Amino acid sequence: MGENNKIVVAIDGPAGAGKTTAAKMVAEKAGYKYIDTGAMYRALTLLALMNNTSPEDEDKLASLLDNHDIQFINSKLFLDGVDVSREIRSQEVTNLVSAVCKHRKVREFMVEKQRDLARGGGVVMEGRDIGTVVLPDAELKIFLKAALKERALRRKKDFEMGGESIEVDTLIKQIDTRDRTDSQREIAPLSQAEDAVVLDNTDLSIDKEIELILNKIHELEKKKIKIKGED
Ligand code: C5P
Repeated sequence: MGENNKIVVAIDGPAGAGKTTAAKMVAEKAGYKYIDTGAMYRALTLLALMNNTSPEDEDKLASLLDNHDIQFINSKLFLDGVDVSREIRSQEVTNLVSAVCKHRKVREFMVEKQRDLARGGGVVMEGRDIGTVVLPDAELKIFLKAALKERALRRKKDFEMGGESIEVDTLIKQIDTRDRTDSQREIAPLSQAEDAVVLDNTDLSIDKEIELILNKIHELEKKKIKIKGED
């Protein structure tokens, strides 16, 4: 028992739906490992910017991945051993990341890394293609969504807390463009897995949302113990 009743949780959804907040809190409360796959694609985008690599140059992006080290450890993103968790959230990175991550070579490299990180279970992984492509066998798949305007308003608040001011209309456009690019790309687009539980949190408190997800995790953990006991 103990560790082996832990499950794999995939959380997907559009930009700004609160995946990070939810996934982090759920992982902490359940005693699971938290993995932010968006941070990994953001780190490659930062690398591309630092090296003047075009987001369209698939081969150069792939060689950046071969020659640099991207690690997600304890909710922080390390690039060649340096914590760049703040830098990967810049507007410049945010506006380029969807173009960088659409390439086959980039996605194949990242998916392999992400599967390695999830090995053994007890993990909450968030992204766009986790339930569909990265971890199609995840025991629990959540698709988190919220109205576009609400997502933009939440982003505006985040910026304000960091001392920055940005128009809500600008954020609506940015989020919408990113969602469209992510949903329309050829490889592993943002999409809802058929067996995902859909949670619209437009009018749902974060506490209630966490409670709902944790209840599902605990239910599935119990089932897993039962199935093991029946063997
Ligand atoms: O979640 P976050 O907003 O940090 O993700 C940044 C970008 O990384 C997304 O807009 C998307 O283009 C890309 N991404 C992806 N697949 C994932 C996670 C993120 O394509 N699994």
